[in-house]
Amino acid sequence: MRGDREARRWIAAMQIGGAGVLALGIFALDVLSPLQGAVAVLYTTVVLIVAREQVRNWVLAAGCLCSLLAICSYWISHGGEGFEAATVRLAVSLVAIATTSLLCARQITTSAERKSSDERYRAIFNAAGFPIWESDWSLAHEMISRGEAPNIDLVRRAGEAAFIRNANEEAARLFGYANRADLVGGSILRHHTPGGQATQARIFDQLMDGKYPVEEEVQFVTLSGETRDVVLRVTLPPDHDGWKRVLITALDVTQRNRAQLRLAESQAELTHMSRVTTLGQLAASIAHEVNQPLSAIITYARSGKRWLAREAPDAREVEDCLNQIASNGTRAADVISRIRDLARKADPERAAMQLRPLIDETVALLQRDLATNEVALHIRLPEGLPDVSGDRVQLQQVLMNLLLNAQQAMSENAPDRREICIDAAQVDGHVTVDVSDCGIGFGGQDPEALFRPFFTTKQDGMGMGLSICRSIIEQHGGTLTAASNERGGATLRFRLPVVGNVRREAA
Ligand code: ADP
Repeated sequence: MRGDREARRWIAAMQIGGAGVLALGIFALDVLSPLQGAVAVLYTTVVLIVAREQVRNWVLAAGCLCSLLAICSYWISHGGEGFEAATVRLAVSLVAIATTSLLCARQITTSAERKSSDERYRAIFNAAGFPIWESDWSLAHEMISRGEAPNIDLVRRAGEAAFIRNANEEAARLFGYANRADLVGGSILRHHTPGGQATQARIFDQLMDGKYPVEEEVQFVTLSGETRDVVLRVTLPPDHDGWKRVLITALDVTQRNRAQLRLAESQAELTHMSRVTTLGQLAASIAHEVNQPLSAIITYARSGKRWLAREAPDAREVEDCLNQIASNGTRAADVISRIRDLARKADPERAAMQLRPLIDETVALLQRDLATNEVALHIRLPEGLPDVSGDRVQLQQVLMNLLLNAQQAMSENAPDRREICIDAAQVDGHVTVDVSDCGIGFGGQDPEALFRPFFTTKQDGMGMGLSICRSIIEQHGGTLTAASNERGGATLRFRLPVVGNVRREAA
């Protein structure tokens, strides 16, 4: 490297020295020869020799020096002769020297500018964080210009002659080369896939129609045989000279495509899972909701039998048991028909209803359970509570679930600490109903977890009750939440829009 520089410096010194000697030679010839000034034109050779060094100031200095020498030799040979032919020859020589010097200086400036622009282009090319290369597709251009159709066959034939003029390191990496020198000068044909060749034909077509930059997604095979998905952007610089310089940038989208594929796969899996879960949930919800009236029917049937087995059967008690059996049977049937509607996505049967009778009916169905477990119930409803709109059976289902959960949460409490409160209030066009107990509470657990399907802490629990309750309340345009209360137990609150507010909510 250093040796090269030394050698170049030597050659430069020799050239400048040679030019100096030549200038002196011309001067001597001019003064001594009988050619009378015609020799001065030869100074342009001196300027041209100096210009080979591509230093603008040296050229201008050489021009000035040569002009001075020409004037001196004129002065020596013809000084004081007045305006004669020699003066005209001097003027012509000076014009020739000046023109040569200025043209050379301009050429040096232009080539310096071009060099620095080339360097800038190369720096950007190499520093680009994405693959970029410049190809020669002139044969393809020639073939298409001759009238051949841009098809796969043409791509194959033209591809053999096409080569990469320049490429950056990123491009080399894209195709699996260790460095760009391995890629430059080679053909890209070996990296094409059959699909890629069809795309290449399309690119030719669009370039020919002047529709560039062209953007196409294509697949390449790397040196190691791996397939890469790439979005190509092909453009022609202004001086492409019949596709001799085609600029190609690439965006490797292999990872993106793989991620999209994985996403599509997991979405398909999720859809399948959710179908399975919905079926499971449906079966579980039928079992869960029907279980309670069925247990009640069994209990009432047994106690009816006991009333009948007495020496003096009590017809009134038996009738009461039969009535309870009938109403629990009806409830079970209603629940099943509602769940069937749910599966068919039928709308719940909406009707305006007062909360008081709804609560009373539900409590009546649970009366025996609550009494057996020695649970005290306090219902505190303010006067003038507006009606809510909803499906009676579904809302009863919700309330019954909350009451049973509250009762079960207090099963370990002493009998004097088994108390459930039902409080209602009207807030902002809604009615809220709180079911509070003083049971075990959530034990530090996030209350939201209770609503997850199959979440249960009970040995024989199914974990479906609260998740079904929430979906019922949400279908009614309301919310169902859980929170700890100051008695250490849990408060489950549902909020329903009052009649007349439902339509606005839905809107
Ligand atoms: P299951 O009653 O079958 O367990 P739920 O969905 O009704 O299903 O309840 C889920 C879980 O939420 C229960 O197992 C219980 O741990 C908790 N939970 C529900 N209600 C209460 C409550 N009032 N107090 C404390 N924990 C409750």
